[in-house]
Amino acid sequence: MTEITAPKAPVTSDEFTGEIREQLKYTQGVTPEQATAADVYVAAAAAVRRHLVDAWMKTQKDMVSGDTKAVGYLSAEFLMGKQLSNALLNAGLTEQFEAAVKALGFEPQQIVDAEYEPGLGNGGLGRLAACYIDSLASIGVPAFGYGIQYRYGIFKQKFDDKGRQIETPDYWLANEEPWGHIDYNRDQRVSFGGKVVEENGRRVWKPAWSVRAVPVDYMVPGYTSQRVNTLRLWTAKSYDEFDLLTFNESEYLDAVKPQVAAENITKILYPEDSTPQGKALRLEQQYFFVAASIHDAIRVFYPGEANPDLTNFADKIVFQLNDTHPVIGIPELMRVLMDEHGYDWDTAWGITQKTFNYTCHTLLPEALEVWPADLIGELLPRHLEIIRKINDQFVAELESKNVAADQIERMRIYTDDERPSVRMAFLASYAGSYVNGVAELHSELLKDVTLKDFSDVYPQKFANVTNGVTPRRFVRLSNPRMSALITEGLGTDRWISDLSLLKGLVPLADDAEFVRKFADVKQANKDAFAVFAKSHYGIDLDSSTMFNTMVKRLHEYKRQSLKILALISTYADIKSGKVNVDDVLPRTVMFGAKSAPGYAMAKLTIRLINNVSRVVNNDPDVKGKLAVHMLPNYNIEMAENLIPATDLDEQISQAGKEASGTGNMKFALNGALTVGTLDGANVEIRQLVGAENFFLFGMTVDEVDKLYAEGYDHGGSRKYYEADPRLKQAVDMVADGTFSDGDKDVYKDLVNDWLTHDYFMTMADFGAYMDIQAEIENTYREPAKWARMAVLNVANSGYFSSDRSIEDYLERIWHTGALA
Ligand SMILES: *Cc1c(COP(=O)(O)O)cnc(C)c1O
Repeated sequence: MTEITAPKAPVTSDEFTGEIREQLKYTQGVTPEQATAADVYVAAAAAVRRHLVDAWMKTQKDMVSGDTKAVGYLSAEFLMGKQLSNALLNAGLTEQFEAAVKALGFEPQQIVDAEYEPGLGNGGLGRLAACYIDSLASIGVPAFGYGIQYRYGIFKQKFDDKGRQIETPDYWLANEEPWGHIDYNRDQRVSFGGKVVEENGRRVWKPAWSVRAVPVDYMVPGYTSQRVNTLRLWTAKSYDEFDLLTFNESEYLDAVKPQVAAENITKILYPEDSTPQGKALRLEQQYFFVAASIHDAIRVFYPGEANPDLTNFADKIVFQLNDTHPVIGIPELMRVLMDEHGYDWDTAWGITQKTFNYTCHTLLPEALEVWPADLIGELLPRHLEIIRKINDQFVAELESKNVAADQIERMRIYTDDERPSVRMAFLASYAGSYVNGVAELHSELLKDVTLKDFSDVYPQKFANVTNGVTPRRFVRLSNPRMSALITEGLGTDRWISDLSLLKGLVPLADDAEFVRKFADVKQANKDAFAVFAKSHYGIDLDSSTMFNTMVKRLHEYKRQSLKILALISTYADIKSGKVNVDDVLPRTVMFGAKSAPGYAMAKLTIRLINNVSRVVNNDPDVKGKLAVHMLPNYNIEMAENLIPATDLDEQISQAGKEASGTGNMKFALNGALTVGTLDGANVEIRQLVGAENFFLFGMTVDEVDKLYAEGYDHGGSRKYYEADPRLKQAVDMVADGTFSDGDKDVYKDLVNDWLTHDYFMTMADFGAYMDIQAEIENTYREPAKWARMAVLNVANSGYFSSDRSIEDYLERIWHTGALA
């Protein structure tokens, strides 16, 4: 396959080999004969970085000197995945690399495998940020990703002999990390605590302690764009010097705290997904990276200016708030403009409003961050004052718009109750220019439900940008066989940077030869995954069976329990002879999911999946028909290997709960068919690929609401259990110890929840989910039909490129574009 991407700086294979040898010798101090795969990996990474430097510097120069507004993507998580293959692809150096490492006596895969995956995110939200900075660079938009370089990323997941999740620390920096460049000379001071005093009629913050924020810079090379942006992740260092001034003015404990605690700030990524944890450290993390980033942007765009004119700040950079985690940046920019640069409130407010936009990622009201006001007051007293003033201004504005008193009460940013708190989503919705949801349905529900009060008063602020995924990592790199076939079919590889070109595959869905090749690619991917699974997990997969996958964070709303109950039911039917074993479509079901460590129900579900797996896989009665695996430690690497090998993927969340999903997009783009509900971006996927090429089941949002109104979650689920013998049998088997060596207590909480509460309506959707299985199996029994549907999924999913998402942001929200 020829790729049109040109090296950022052209080089031959021999030259590249020479550069790797040079790195081995002068940087790492090993001879080519001594070099291990890990040495060659580090050397190759350094060599690639060198090729990107000129384009990186030029991008920065053009960004500062030109008049194209930049984007600052503020995100507490960037789930990047391994860097080497992606950097090589985008730098146009893949072939040179492959030849070079072979010349050094290695296979390319050995070198790629030597990289350790950084886990600086929990799941979809962090991966979205990573896809977006890839697309920004590939389109050529000047941009910074701003975040935190956690020393410990998302925990590594293992299972004990009872099938329970064990979390182990992920010290990803234990070995050399060649991509990040720590820049001690571009540090920022971030302060906390203390008090606000009145000085010459002005409010002046006297912080108690400070932390040194040091940037670690990662190059973000665009595909074919010749642009290289920056991902700037901050790490916390302590200032050695004991700050006497602070000590004299403040409490002793406050003054010594930084020396003890400074570096703790960036120590761990909170292993939470959608429920906030009221931890002071988490607020410290948020303020730490946002304050450093805002000061950094001022430094970058007003170089060397002692008194910059910041009234045009919003023409230099626009900040996108990826969920509520960076929302404390709003009062911080106000403070910087007023207290550090002397602007009056109204001027500062005008700049701030133009600078920020907010992406909401949830529909679960309990997942909207709310901070106790006294905690903010303790850590950031000046910010609390500013937030209260913003709230006063907001309330006055609402009153002037004749908004009803009870509605104003609901909308308050600073609540006026016994223990006042600050609602970060409301602060962002008022202070920012735009609020966007992440899929059509989600954006509608934001306007109609979650942020209805705001959309009633400020309808023009609300926008939708449906999520996307980068086709470089999640198609071109993860699925080279299918990529080659697409390029062959389209006669060009331009689809990698313009994914709408996949549409050109539609006619090929009726070309029997193409469809057969497509099916062959899928089979080859399945065979390859079987090899991967053997070496990584020590399991044997039968790649002649249907590969049925459910990978995503473990959460009740995502309904892994629906899938596991359906499996138990199928298992029971085979065992009891209710279905003829010869009529069963052979399936391999694979789960991958981490649970937040403190989320008991999710952990219990993991335990159940592992034990269903143990029982089913050891039962000779179902051998060759049904296999179930819980693959440990779902991460980007697993996604890249498993998704291209999947026949059927599960997107079965309760309607109205998944904001968008991006896993669903990765699967559709890799030729898996989806069984799913009308939730999140599933709705758009189904619209685009065609209802006849999507296995839809389950209740709609309206039907869900109706059931709630009838009191479903207060005992309503039991009716479904009583009425459906299949469901009753499956639940009873969980309750009676079938999957816990006879111990009836193990899954008590899970069973009890299903029968009394079942907030996410697993019981109510079970029947529909079982019914769609027959259709799925009948379709799969016609391989040509299945493959044709898969081709149509790929052909019609170009919309889900993150390049398109970024184009939507540029047009609807940021109002900027590529560098000239
Ligand atoms: C894409 C991705 C996710 C998001 O999956 P959803 O199904 O959308 O929740 C989470 N984790 C990893 C490792 C991913 O690659």
